[in-house]
Amino acid sequence: MRTPMIAGNWKMNHNLETGRAVATAVAQGAAELTAAKKVEVIIAPSFVSLSSLSSALKSSPDTVQLAAQNMHWAEKGAYTGDISPSMLLDVGCSYVILGHSERRHVFLESDELINRKVRSAIAHGLKPIVCIGETLDERESNWTEAKNIFQLRAALVGVSAQEMSQVVIAYEPVWAIGTGKTATPEQAQEVHALIRAELKALYNEQVAHATRILYGGSVKPDNIGELLAKNDIDGALVGGASLTADSFLALVAEAAK
Ligand code: PEP
Repeated sequence: MRTPMIAGNWKMNHNLETGRAVATAVAQGAAELTAAKKVEVIIAPSFVSLSSLSSALKSSPDTVQLAAQNMHWAEKGAYTGDISPSMLLDVGCSYVILGHSERRHVFLESDELINRKVRSAIAHGLKPIVCIGETLDERESNWTEAKNIFQLRAALVGVSAQEMSQVVIAYEPVWAIGTGKTATPEQAQEVHALIRAELKALYNEQVAHATRILYGGSVKPDNIGELLAKNDIDGALVGGASLTADSFLALVAEAAK
């Protein structure tokens, strides 16, 4: 049985004060909502808020875990403006989002770079949430399958079957991120099943069965239920609807049903 996960990607939103208020309210609400059924609840704030949220959430470390939105692959060195895996561990992160489409498209991160980061995260004991997904052009040209398989394979080069227990995959069709256009549950399930089949081909049945695959792309309280009802959808990576405690907790409540 895969534990469902709801991960909120705050992107470049919230300051220290508003971030603390939302995270504290989420921790309080999530503790009640997940008392009967376990849901992993993750918040990914900006780098500069991680330390502050880590102390705000100290009393409930198992209820809400922290993720970074990105990281450098190197341990340390002359990489002006970047953040290392051990720095993230130092401020209390358990997870790190890697390969988000905004990193790929706005900051031109390559598949090779993302793979380096995935391997470095695992080596440091940080769990990567690896994002893949096709653009609208690719979907309309019938490249959805090829694109997702390519990005999945490229991200996981050199990752062993044993290490896969640390990895979460997020299918995020680029055309659905921040656009209000959610993939239908059937469209999402089709790609999730494809990803699971590819994990079986790359590794084995056990890895395919155990790996969590999240859906991301305009997930809201009113559409998450039908997405989570699908066999291969194990949770959601959420941008806009994670920014307020009310809407984020409504998503957690659905996952806890
Ligand atoms: C995201 O940033 O990963 C995302 C899915 O954003 P949104 O929920 O706003 O579409």
